[in-house]
Parts: sequence; C-alpha cells; structure tokens
Amino acid sequence: MSDHDIDPTSPRMAPKPEVTKINGRELKPSTLMMGHGFDPVLSEGSLKAPIFLTSTFAFPSAADGKRHFEGITGKRPGGADGLVYSRFNAPNQEILEDRLSVWDGAEDALSFSSGMTAICVLMLAYASQNDVIVHSGPLYAASEGFVAKILAKFGVTYVDFPAGATREQIDAVLEKARKQADEQGGKVCMVYLESPGNPTNALVDIEAVRDARNAALGEDCPIAIDNTFLGPLWQRPLEHGADIVVYSLTKYVGGHSDLVAGSIAGAKKWMDPVRMLRNTMGGICDPNTAWMLCRSLETVELRMSRAGENAAKVCDFLSKHPKVEGLGYLGMIKDARQQDIYDRHCLGAGSTFSLLLKGGEAECFRFLDSLKIAKLAVSLGGTETLASHPASMTHLSVAEGRRAELGISDNLVRISIGIEDADDLIADFEQALEAV
Ligand SMILES: *Cc1c(COP(=O)(O)O)cnc(C)c1O
Repeated sequence: MSDHDIDPTSPRMAPKPEVTKINGRELKPSTLMMGHGFDPVLSEGSLKAPIFLTSTFAFPSAADGKRHFEGITGKRPGGADGLVYSRFNAPNQEILEDRLSVWDGAEDALSFSSGMTAICVLMLAYASQNDVIVHSGPLYAASEGFVAKILAKFGVTYVDFPAGATREQIDAVLEKARKQADEQGGKVCMVYLESPGNPTNALVDIEAVRDARNAALGEDCPIAIDNTFLGPLWQRPLEHGADIVVYSLTKYVGGHSDLVAGSIAGAKKWMDPVRMLRNTMGGICDPNTAWMLCRSLETVELRMSRAGENAAKVCDFLSKHPKVEGLGYLGMIKDARQQDIYDRHCLGAGSTFSLLLKGGEAECFRFLDSLKIAKLAVSLGGTETLASHPASMTHLSVAEGRRAELGISDNLVRISIGIEDADDLIADFEQALEAV
C-alpha cells in the first residue's frame, strides 16, 4: 500500500462483497465480465487488474505456508486457499479462471498455455496404463495424434465413432471399448468429444453420449468436449450432459489472433486431478496472456454475435452463387438427424464453415489467392476473416483415405468470418469467385 491511499478505514476502501444478483435477478456473464473476481480496493484502486509479474508469493505466517502446501499437495482436499507459486496459480490466472467458469456455468476452471496443453494435461490426468479412450471423429489433428501416438506409448488405446452417431451406434462403441479395456486389463477412462467437428461441422449428440455412458460405464467415466468452435456463446455442453468443457482460447475467446491459450471447466471433482497434474507439470497460462484474455472476455459476446450475423449474410450470398457446390454451415443443415442435434444443443450457427467450390484444388487456390479482405491463414474465431484449404494445409498429414472418410475434399475451403462489414466481405467473396 502506498501513501496515495485514502484512509484505509474509510468504507470506500473496504473490500466489497461482489454483486452477482440485483432484485433477485442473476447478472448475466456479459455484465460480470467487467469486474468478476477482482476488487480494485486490493490493488490501489486500479479499475483494471494489474499484471502480477511474480514467480512466488509471500506467506503472512509460517502456519499459512504450511496450510497452503497441504492444499497444493492434496493432503487437504479442495486445493490451496492462498497464492503460493506461479506454476500453481496467480492472481491474473485466478481472475481469468473465475470468469471462464461464469460463461460455461461451471464450478471451476483451469487455464493453460495453449489449447493443446489443456487437452494433453486433461487426458494424462485421467488415463492410466492400459486404459481405453473413446472419442468422436474427426478431432483436431493434434488431439487425435496425442491419443493415437503419445498415449499409445503407455498402452492406452482408443475407439472412435463418427460425430452424428446415433444412440445405438454409441452403445455399440462403448460396449466394444469396455471389452477392449477388459482384455487390456484397464478401464474406459474418458469419453472425449469434439463438436462440431473440423472441418465438416458434423455435430455430436451430447445427450445421447451421456445416456449411453450412464448405461454402459456409470458416471465415474468423465465426458469431455472440445467446445472451441461454438463456445462459450453458441453451445453450452455442461447443460447437455458433458462433465468437462475444453477450449482453445486462441480462437473465439481470445478473438484477436494475438495470443495462444487454453482452458478446461467443470465441477471441482473433475478439475482437481487435472489441477494436481498441472501443479506438477506446469503449463498454466502466463499472467500477461491471462490479462489479455480478461480484456477479450469483456467483448466476447459482442464479437461472436457480430461474427455470427456476418456469417449468416455471407452464407446466404454464397449459397446462391453458381460457382458454389455447397456449404457446411450450421445455419443451413441438410440432414434431419444433424438438424435435431442442432436444435437441442446449439444457440447459434457460429461463424466458421466450409465452402465447397465447383472444381478442385486449382479452383480453391485461385479463389484463395484472389481474396483481398479475407486473409489466407489457418485458425478461426478472430476479428478478421480467414480462409484456408484444409486438404493441403491443416489436414495434409491425414491419410488420403481417412480424409475422404471425413469429407475433407480437394474442393473444400475453410472460412472463419470476422467482424468486418458484412457487405464488404460479400464484395470480396464475389470478386474472388469471379476470378475462379
Ligand atoms: C486450435 C484448436 C485446438 C488447439 O488449440 P491451441 O490453442 O492451438 O493449442 C484444439 N481444438 C480445436 C477445435 C482447435 O480449433
């Protein structure tokens, strides 16, 4: 505390309990993002949280230090009740984690240095030798690779099923996984989903997965879901039976293509084993990135809403264009089963979709090279519109047969719509299509 402080006994300077309700009305996440989890009184009145660049924290007393370490090491359940060391947690990350929990209606959240760090630490926390992971397909290529190549080194195997599978198909997959686990002398340790799948936008029926899991495996086997493409606005998986929601915060949540980070959220009992492993391995988000993410969370609803509206207008234009063969856009689903999942699970169609051009790679490349506003880059969810060619870029390492199975054809362009002016974007796509 500096001598700039007003009398610390003044009521204006006392820490205030946080307001989350007014007249019985629960405040919405977009309101809570401006202050949740941070009291300016604790930081010289600074309206915004400072960035706490420190590796370690001073204990008020030796007894406090002991108590904190009992929490960190798991000797006492519930985790640390104070700050200890920045590999475990720190103020900016705690504020970020509190705010991320709000969006997903989760009890707890953990932040990581990237989406892949979150996914790898999550899986390592739950998988033991000879276990089986059940997962939907397609997954983000690095997630699929981590299961198939890295966890395989520890005797962990997997069974996958296509996104969009019916309850009967999921039942059969879980039965197969259970047998496989028995034969290996392990258990089914996790059901891992990604919905919608990339780049096809195929949706997983989370409710059917939950019912099948409850029937076949009981509730000790967690269902985790990568919600990067629709979260936190357009899909709320914890309300449909998922236990753990996973994000690459690099995408919509960060939203400005200027940082890399990840998170998971869910009930404390699901977070605790992951927190323990993160304490050991590291991989927590750094304070500067956590601060940037808190800034991003203040506008996430605005940005996603605008991007979603833009995508609807652009897709309306593209769907009528003679050089377009089709669109993989959640606002224009052709399949009744997929539409049913969408209606039950989704609150918006998102702003990331695939565009199928008439032709193949050559036509796609001419289209991509002609774009003037949209940037030619992988990733998604940023303020700017991006376009890429999965078959020759993000999914180049996927075997040709598997690529065909996943619907990743040579005439598929992946587009993530940003928050530019919608008519400007339409003009850009129109002139690029003319060049094809
Ligand atoms: C980008 C992405 C990831 C990986 O996240 P990073 O932040 O790049 O590590 C995982 N899942 C999905 C669906 C993604 O789009």
